[in-house]
Amino acid sequence: MLMASEARFRQLADSMPHIVWTADAEGQIDHFNDRWYEFTGHSRDSQTLPTWESILHPDDVSRSRETWAEGVESGAPHSIEYRLWDGRWHRWRWFMGRAVAIRDGADRIVKWFGTCTDIDDRKQMEEDLLRVNQDLEQFAFSASHDLQEPLRTVKVYSELLAQRYGDGFDEDARQCVQYLQSGASRMETLLRDLLTYTQLMKLDMPTETADANEALQAALANLAGAIAQSGGTIDSGPLPSVRVHGTHLQQLFQNLIGNAIKYRRPERVPSITVRAERENGQWVFAVSDNGIGIAPEYKETVFVIFKRLHGSDQYSGSGIGLAICQRIVERYRGRIWVESEPGLGSTFRWTLPA
Ligand code: ADP
Repeated sequence: MLMASEARFRQLADSMPHIVWTADAEGQIDHFNDRWYEFTGHSRDSQTLPTWESILHPDDVSRSRETWAEGVESGAPHSIEYRLWDGRWHRWRWFMGRAVAIRDGADRIVKWFGTCTDIDDRKQMEEDLLRVNQDLEQFAFSASHDLQEPLRTVKVYSELLAQRYGDGFDEDARQCVQYLQSGASRMETLLRDLLTYTQLMKLDMPTETADANEALQAALANLAGAIAQSGGTIDSGPLPSVRVHGTHLQQLFQNLIGNAIKYRRPERVPSITVRAERENGQWVFAVSDNGIGIAPEYKETVFVIFKRLHGSDQYSGSGIGLAICQRIVERYRGRIWVESEPGLGSTFRWTLPA
C-alpha cells in the first residue's frame, strides 16, 4: 500500500514542471524528480544522490542551511529564495524553494515535501529595475547638486547688477533684473527640494524610536515666521513615539503644516490641527486645515513629483513637498492620502507602524 502510493507520488512528481524532492523526518533528501536531473545534469543511475549544496550558490549556502535547520526543528512550512547552478546552460538561476512537513495520524512528521519554482525572470527584472532606479537617483542627485553652483553665480551677479547699476536702469531694465532674480530663487527652491528628495533613502532603517511631539516642535520652530505672518493657530493632541527617523517625521510635519499655511483662504485665519490615533496595530497621523481644499480629481495627483495645481505667481513652491512625504511614509510601509472639501479645507492622513 505504502509502496504503491509512493510510486504514484513519484509518477506525479515527474510530470510536474517544478523541481520536486522529498526528505525523511530528519531532513535527509531521499528523492528528486526528473526535473532535478534534467536541470542539474546529474545522472539518476549514479550510486549516490547528488547533494543539494553541490549546486547551491556559495553566497546562499549559510542562509539556506539556517532556514532548513530551523524548518526541520520547528516542523513549520518554510520558503526561501536562492540560486542554483543550471547544468544545462552553465549559469546560476534564481529559485523559490518551499518545504512542508507531511504528518501521520499522531501528528508526527514522516516526510518533508519540497518544490523549487524558477523565479529567475522575475528576479532579473527586479535587479534591472533596482539598477535603473539607482542610476536615476544618482543622476537626479548629481544634477541638483551640481546645478547649485552656476545658479549661485546667476543669483550673486544679478544682485550685484541691481545694486551697482540699478539707479541708472529704466523701468524695463529693472523688470528684467527682477525676473532674473525671482527665476533664480524659484530654481533654488526646486534644486533644494529635489536634493532633499534624492537624499531621503540614504538613511538606514532606524533602530530606535523618535518622539513625534519633538519632531512637531522642531517643524513648528522652522515655520514660526510663516505661522506668525498668517496669524494661524496650531492645535496638537498627544503624539506617540514611532520607529522612524526623527528628521523624516519633522519633514512630514513641516511640509504638511507649511502647505496648510500656504494654501489658506485669504479671508480666513488658518486653523490647523495635528492628531494621531492608534488603529489596527498602526498609528494614523492627521494634519487638518481650513484652507482652499483640493478638488476630488486631484487627490492622487498632488503626490506626484513636480505636480502643482497653481502657478508660482499664485503660490510659490516646487511641487516636490508631497512627493517627499509620500516617499518617507512608503519607506516605512505606510500609506498617505488626502480627504478634502474644496473651499472648506483638507486633511492629510498617513500611517506608520506602531
Ligand atoms: P508645492 O506646495 O511646492 O506646490 P506640494 O507637493 O507640497 O508642492 O503640493 C502639491 C500641490 O498640492 C500644491 O501645488 C497644491 O496645489 C496642493 N496642495 C498641497 N497641500 C495643500 C493643502 N493643504 N490645501 C490645498 N492644496 C494643497
